[in-house]
Amino acid sequence: MAHSTPAWLAGPANAAPQGFVHAPDTTAGYWYQRPENTLPPPDFWSPYARNRPLPTPGVEARKAWIVGSGIAGLAAAFYLIRDGHMPPANITILDAAHVEGGSLDGAGDAERGYLIRGGREMNWNYDNLWDLFQDVPALELPAGYSVLDEYRWVNDRDPNYSRARLMHRQGAIKDFSTFGLSRKDQWEIVRLLLKRKDEVGDTTIAQYFNKGFFETNFWALFRTMFAFQEWHSLLEMKLYLHRFLDSVDGFADMSVVLFPKYDQFDTFVRPLTRMLREQGVRFQFDTRAYDLDFALAGEQRTVTGIRAMVGGEATVLPVAAEDLVFVLPGSMTEGTAYGDMDQAPVLARGGQWVGEAADTVRGWMAGLKER
Ligand SMILES: Cc1cc2nc3c(=O)[nH]c(=O)nc-3n(C[C@H](O)[C@H](O)[C@H](O)COP(=O)(O)OP(=O)(O)OC[C@H]3O[C@@H](n4cnc5c(N)ncnc54)[C@H](O)[C@@H]3O)c2cc1C
Repeated sequence: MAHSTPAWLAGPANAAPQGFVHAPDTTAGYWYQRPENTLPPPDFWSPYARNRPLPTPGVEARKAWIVGSGIAGLAAAFYLIRDGHMPPANITILDAAHVEGGSLDGAGDAERGYLIRGGREMNWNYDNLWDLFQDVPALELPAGYSVLDEYRWVNDRDPNYSRARLMHRQGAIKDFSTFGLSRKDQWEIVRLLLKRKDEVGDTTIAQYFNKGFFETNFWALFRTMFAFQEWHSLLEMKLYLHRFLDSVDGFADMSVVLFPKYDQFDTFVRPLTRMLREQGVRFQFDTRAYDLDFALAGEQRTVTGIRAMVGGEATVLPVAAEDLVFVLPGSMTEGTAYGDMDQAPVLARGGQWVGEAADTVRGWMAGLKER
């Protein structure tokens, strides 16, 4: 999409030195207050954003349908209740799987094996996550303490750091005392940060950076921290740079990283879903949404029904005009394949309906939960 700099942004005051013009990113306009934009930006975090909005008139008569019970779907339900004042019983969370949590999983025992498809590293400024979990009661602390309190208790007393970030040359600790970035490398990083998302296009990381960049300690730290390959998307790298560059001084010894007490299911999903269930939110599993019905009126499209396979049967869940529908289809952990000590996992991609892979994978996990 072509971009033109708005008149209120143009001019020398907004031109970066040395010929860099900072074209605002998709949400950057929100940072410039003006009569037609007097509200804080949607991603603004400060005590000012910790207000509790007053109820929207009529919210008690509206329902919400949330497709996907990963952290995104659970957070949607949480905020609809806390900030949106929707009665919890009006909220239904649908999931193709047989258990909630999506990619935040953790189940099993020493006899049957464990299922944890990845550990999650966090840091202090996961603002939205901590905002949410400051209001979710901890499972193992007295009443009044939150999951955030528990998390701080664990991490403040058992801080994370590592004496060796990476080993090389058959057991030598790699020296990361400098990032090893040349002036050229530094400018390439700055330039990437200033680029608009839509300018980055389909470029790979390898296509963008000079060859020397890939020999630097910075790249070694960045790629091993966030699982980047040189053929990966440059846009994805840009987003990670924006998100985590403030943590860069803790990359070399991992001191920037926080870890939950247990796996992510037991630490986050279990207390949050307990709270939502106690409040009255309904969970409906074995329900794979595969299409939405719409009513069209000019430019406006309104969902009138959710087409879903419920227990293998095609069903339409009716949606009223005033209801809200949040669809979070697909999953990072969809298509997970398993091996064991004797069998390599076999990848089986393609030919699946949206959400279908979750049926089998999470079905196995639900079995492990029933202990
Ligand atoms: C190996 C690994 C390591 C990671 N490490 C980190 C980390 O260190 N730090 C970090 O912050 N993040 C990390 N992440 C990312 C993080 O775990 C995910 O971004 C997050 O859990 C995604 O949450 P979600 O709710 O968006 O989606 P998901 O958790 O994927 O949930 C989607 C849910 O929707 C359901 N669903 C999908 N389609 C349908 C449908 N059509 N109908 C019904 N249900 C449907 C699925 O069954 C699933 O339950 C990691 C992820 C992985 C896989």
